[in-house]
This record gives sequence, C-alpha cells and structure tokens, in this order.
Amino acid sequence: MAITGTTQLLGVIGDPVTHSLSPVMHNAALAELGVDYVYVAFPVVAEGLEAAIAGFAATGVQGFSITIPHKQSIMPLLAEVSAEAQAVGAVNTVWRTAQGWAGTNTDVAGFVAPLKAMSAWTGATALVLGNGGAARAVVAGCGQLGFAAVQVVGRNPQKLTEFEHSWAQSPLHPLLTVHSWESLPQLLPTADLIVNTTPIGMHSLAGQTPLTADLLALVPATAVVYDLIYTPRPTQLLALAAQRGLVTLDGLEMLVQQGAVALELWLQQPVPVATMRQALVDWLEG
Ligand code: NAP
Repeated sequence: MAITGTTQLLGVIGDPVTHSLSPVMHNAALAELGVDYVYVAFPVVAEGLEAAIAGFAATGVQGFSITIPHKQSIMPLLAEVSAEAQAVGAVNTVWRTAQGWAGTNTDVAGFVAPLKAMSAWTGATALVLGNGGAARAVVAGCGQLGFAAVQVVGRNPQKLTEFEHSWAQSPLHPLLTVHSWESLPQLLPTADLIVNTTPIGMHSLAGQTPLTADLLALVPATAVVYDLIYTPRPTQLLALAAQRGLVTLDGLEMLVQQGAVALELWLQQPVPVATMRQALVDWLEG
C-alpha cells in the first residue's frame, strides 16, 4: 500500500536499533493485511526517551515496540502498565489510550507459544541459563505454564541474588531457585526444559555453547532444549542437543509470536503470523 497523507505510524525505539528485525516482520504483515500503516525504527538514546514519547503522542504515532536500553526506564513514563509487564519488570510494547501510553510485555506470550504447542508442562522443572532481561520473561512464562520448579543459573553471585530478591513479592517466588554454573552437573539430570537466555552462541560468539556435549549427556532423553537466540540457526547448543537426540527450539518463534501479539494490540484485528515468520526466515537466510 502506498504511503500517503493518511498513513499511520508504528515503530520501534532503541539504541542501537538499526539491527532490529521488527520492521521486516511488521511491514510484511501490514502489506499482507492491506492496512494503511507503516512500521519504522527510531533511534532514541537514553536521555531522549521522555522527549521521544511526548513527541510520538503529539504527532499521532499509534504504538511502538521498545528494545534496549528502554525496556525498564519507560515504565514510569506510561499511564498504564499491564500486570504481566509489572511481573517481568519490563515493557516491550506500547499503545495509545485516551489517558496516555499503555504498556505490556509480549515476550512472555512469545516465549510460551511454542512450548504450549508442544506438551503439558504442569509440574515440570525448567533450567534457565542466564539472569538478564529475557530470563525474566522466561520465569514468568514458566509460571504461566505451571512449572513446579524454575532453576536459574548465573555467573555473577550478586546479580543472581538481586534477581532472586526481585521476585520476592511474586507468586512465582516459591518456584524459583538460583545457582552457580558449577552446579550444572547436579541440576541437568532433573531438567525437563533447558532455556539459554545468555548471548553465548550468537553473532560474534557463534560456535560457542553454554553447555558442552559432556554436560548435555547428563540431560534426560525427554528434555527440550530452547535457545532464545535466532541467529545463527541452529546455534552450537542446539546442534549439540540435536546430536544427542533431544527436541530443540530456537528463538525465531518467540520473536514472531511476541511481534504478532503486539501487532494485534495495535491493529485490534488478527494478524498473519505465517507471513511474519516467512519474512524473518527470508531476511535471515537472504
Ligand atoms: P541481558 O539482559 O544482557 O542478559 C544476558 C544474560 O546472559 C546475563 O545474565 C549475563 O550475565 C549472561 N551472560 C552474558 N554473557 C555470558 C557469558 N559469557 N557467560 C555466562 N553468562 C553470560 O540480555 P537479554 O536481553 O536477556 O538477551 C539475552 C539473549 O536472549 C540474547 O541472545 C537475545 O538475542 C535473546 N533474546 C531473544 C528473544 C527472542 O524473541 N527470541 C527475546 C529476547 C532476548 P550477567 O548478568 O552476569 O552479565
């Protein structure tokens, strides 16, 4: 559809933002739907956040995605923050309301979507590698899926303790335990789901793996290994897990599904998920 005087704006804010795959995915869906919208990347530095969203409100931007470094700092600037985003402590999607900007976190829905399609997880044990932003969405998602235990493994004891304390008021706190990387040989034999939320294996770290073949040998044969990284496909972790005969999931579906939930919020209509997925696959392979 041609961009004209009536075209409505959606976008993503971040710093850096040029690497974002969101414009590729969302514009493919907007074209398929034939709606009068365009989705663009806005580079916004940390000090410019407040001015940027005031400007968006004044100029009629309909909604936007948020990436690093604004996912937490945008929260006090919003008129409304969903319970899900409060639980995660981060917002990745904002839309316009009569009262001002409202925000939520669609990473949780994105993370759980491929797991829901796979099996029942009630009573299962998740082992989460890393304790950064994505790990927070993973913990919330595991809570939604009914996991009985979520074991988070990190390299920095202080950050790990802070992570654990940050869930103190959450109903998920009783499920959560934190552990050092050295504990992996004890933890892996009881893991039903292993999730890599570290960047080990992506881009410049491609070829590296957070779990060696020796450690993967300790995992039950029925376990699922989920790497949130979506490039390269597969990561070294998933290649080793597949060699071991384990079921694997990469981060592409999470990326697609979190985007689909966001686009549905902005457009208030069903969106073409398959088109969004294919646009990303074509872009990543192209
Ligand atoms: P983040 O907030 O920076 O967290 C990264 C975590 O990994 C931190 O806990 C960090 O440890 C740990 N870590 C980093 N390097 C490590 C190393 N060499 N050894 C051990 N631990 C290490 O990043 P994030 O936003 O959570 O993103 C993490 C990954 O998830 C990225 O690869 C990102 O692409 C992916 N992701 C994918 C999706 C998707 O839709 N598929 C969505 C979100 C994120 P410290 O705390 O000690 O620094």
